[in-house]
Amino acid sequence: MSTLSSRIDKAAEILQIKITKLKEGDKLQHKKSNSICEVENIENSEVKLSHLPQWLNLEDIKNNFVYLRYSSTNLTRKIEQILKTIGITDDELGIKILEAETTNFDMFFNNIDPISEIPIARLKIAWEILKGNDPFTKKEEKPVINNAVQQTKPIGQWSDLELLESYGYDCPLEIEEHLNKITKGRPAIIFDKEGRVDVEKSLYMVRKARHQETPSTFIIRQEMHKVYRVGEWPLEVFFECPIHSHILLMDGYCDECGMKWNVDDYEKNSFLRLISERESEVDIRLYKKMDMNELIENFPKTFLKFKDLKDEGKLPSLKRKLSKTHDTDPFRVIATHKTY
Ligand SMILES: [Zn+2]
Repeated sequence: MSTLSSRIDKAAEILQIKITKLKEGDKLQHKKSNSICEVENIENSEVKLSHLPQWLNLEDIKNNFVYLRYSSTNLTRKIEQILKTIGITDDELGIKILEAETTNFDMFFNNIDPISEIPIARLKIAWEILKGNDPFTKKEEKPVINNAVQQTKPIGQWSDLELLESYGYDCPLEIEEHLNKITKGRPAIIFDKEGRVDVEKSLYMVRKARHQETPSTFIIRQEMHKVYRVGEWPLEVFFECPIHSHILLMDGYCDECGMKWNVDDYEKNSFLRLISERESEVDIRLYKKMDMNELIENFPKTFLKFKDLKDEGKLPSLKRKLSKTHDTDPFRVIATHKTY
């Protein structure tokens, strides 16, 4: 077996994800095709399936576990294909090219099917194995050198992955500008539900945006994602002070009343908003500590109005959605202390 094919086999092992020990009655669903087969029975660790779908490897079934996405043989073939696309042949020169510094993870990643669902950590390990490195031994001497290289390397020479890993709301402007340049101002950034850059999905879009127009929404793994241009961020929800509609709370705190509000207490807060609008004589802060029933007792008329509005779905929302762009954000601090 050549050096390359043994590396490919090891890399394929890393990319497999063992999901389960089979039990009778288990239904196995293939995510990509949605095809289903059922485990009919298990006798003397011999697994009988309702049928043998293409995506299952007979060896895996004999060993009484399945891999959800790819069988090892499929993966080996896939990696071979990718290396061939990158220009790596199974000979001495091919291995030299593979090990060269100019041949990098991005090239490998760019050829991975974006819906394969293989986590990026595993892809990186597999890539190190392909390069002939041992990804699991800690480097004792090298890190210092690596950091120095990373810090002195001009941003223009960073890989797409390095750029995305450093890109964020408070990143150095140079990174943002460079990313904007390579994506030609096209939509390319996808955020996760917490509003952080989804590096894996964005990498796929960045690579597209380099060469072609990209859409502002994109479906990955059956889920619709909004795709943002570099420098655009998801809308952020701000809460207004219940009694000062022109003040946006910072961590629940209102500058004008000098108090912290609980934004989850929506009904009470919107009732207080109505009271403050209708009863200008009242110092609402005195009523902040009251619960809803006490407030109703004190302001029965306003409560009637409150009920009407609530029934019509017209209570004040107390929320504002603002686009997070740097131009409109007075709070943005560009980190200047970072070394890169
Ligand atoms: Zn206030």
